Amino acid sequence: TVLPPISNEPVREYPPESEERMELLAACARVRSETVDIPCVINGKEVFTGNTIEQRACSDHQHAVARVHLASPELIQEAIDTSLSVREEWEQLDFEHRAAVFLKAADLLSTKFRNEVLAATMIGQGKNMFQAEIDAAAEAADFYRFGVKYANEIYAEQPAHHAQHVWNRVEYRGLEGFVAGIPPFNFTAIGANLGATPAIMGNVVLWKPSENAALSNYVVFKALREAGLPDGVVNFVPAAGPTFGDKIVSSPDLAAISFTGSTRTFNTLWKGVADNLDKYKTYPRLVGECGGKNFHYVHNTADLDNAVYSTIRSAFEYQGQKCSACSRLYVPESMWPEFRDRMLDCMRDIQVGEPDDFKTFMTAVIDEKAFDKIVSYINYAKESSEMEVLAGGEADKSVGWFVQPTLVQSTNPHSKLMEEEIFGPVITAYVYPDDQWEETLDLVNKTSPYGLTGSIFSADRSVIDTGLKKLRHAAGNIYINAKSTGSVVGQQPFGGARRSGTNDKAGASSYLARFTSMQAAKECL
Ligand code: GLU
Repeated sequence: TVLPPISNEPVREYPPESEERMELLAACARVRSETVDIPCVINGKEVFTGNTIEQRACSDHQHAVARVHLASPELIQEAIDTSLSVREEWEQLDFEHRAAVFLKAADLLSTKFRNEVLAATMIGQGKNMFQAEIDAAAEAADFYRFGVKYANEIYAEQPAHHAQHVWNRVEYRGLEGFVAGIPPFNFTAIGANLGATPAIMGNVVLWKPSENAALSNYVVFKALREAGLPDGVVNFVPAAGPTFGDKIVSSPDLAAISFTGSTRTFNTLWKGVADNLDKYKTYPRLVGECGGKNFHYVHNTADLDNAVYSTIRSAFEYQGQKCSACSRLYVPESMWPEFRDRMLDCMRDIQVGEPDDFKTFMTAVIDEKAFDKIVSYINYAKESSEMEVLAGGEADKSVGWFVQPTLVQSTNPHSKLMEEEIFGPVITAYVYPDDQWEETLDLVNKTSPYGLTGSIFSADRSVIDTGLKKLRHAAGNIYINAKSTGSVVGQQPFGGARRSGTNDKAGASSYLARFTSMQAAKECL
């Protein structure tokens, strides 16, 4: 299929006094003043179950941005049944039709729905304008446009060899069953991707949004419907996590789970699948992107400005709540005094405030549970003899879930804060002797059970090469002289191995390939 040219959605800037900025602020004001009822949508029918949970504004937790209606096990079953009833028709529809829906949805998200999805992400998930823009506007549209492009490439791949009088062909079928998409709160784009892109390959999907991102995910879902997604192909099913998990893993029709979230939850789902293996009509595909303990390794040949600035951005943008955020830092002794002072200077300048204040660099963390967890790590560091809190360390939950950007130094490279995922604006530094730069690379590799992202900062090619060799399995996404966050669809396929997941790489054809099942046909002529 010949597709229109596909490129990354440009990120907008909303200059002061511009009409775009005024409109975006007006959209934010609406989210701040309304509480939207978010239904389950099953086969096109909105169901307000009355069993609700509130999604609160992170920086103003008295305000609920949404009342999310949760599905009961019976309703989840109905979602499964209706999706199965439309599956065949959707799968057999020409690819052009499926592609058109997703290309149009991408266009709607980057135009008509742009302000709405940005405002929902900013106020509902606590992102400043730039963080929302790269996520809900740009990356969400990219997932759909590139998803179509990759699907098209997959379909084009056909056997190259034919024996005499033999015709060979490969058919790329959707999975025979339903896909469960279970995204996290931290990226609206991940909601868009997990909740719907498997449908590009002819699948039907149950999209269970995170209750902390239900508002933005619902906007994306509305864009898909307006783009012509037929009823039932994607059912929008907010539900309590365990209720949803139990229901899908015990369904004989489960064909795949696409999950992003904690390693613990992914393990629970995986075990649930194991417990039900005898029931399934086909082996479910398990796709997961989980936790991380991402590193910045700085060598004494590194450009100091770049290393400091990149570390600040990676550790503190979106309050450190990206799976890819840097939370352990390795700096050589000779560089440390200047590095530390520069970090402290930068951290003093960090503006912590409201998401729709354009001066804000950081805003509040997602909810009380996250707040308490982050604070408990900070308190642990304060009490530990092997750690010192060099900056930040304060938190205030009276109005919003605000945690100051925090820098900890640890004399023990294996302290709790060097090893465990915190998912907040806390970074822990370990200072190593310059002449042990190679051993330190081994330390970086062995310290964490995760393998998501990491960065090497050095101006010396041989150091970079040694680092790449030693850290080959330490990160699914490795960066050289660049921060460990901010992968771009179509440019850096994203995901990690080890305890960070199945490394099926969001934003690449390998992700879509998991949601297709080949049939090879040979015909004798
Ligand atoms: N792809 C995002 C990044 O590179 C992170 C996604 C996530 O948090 O799961 O920063």
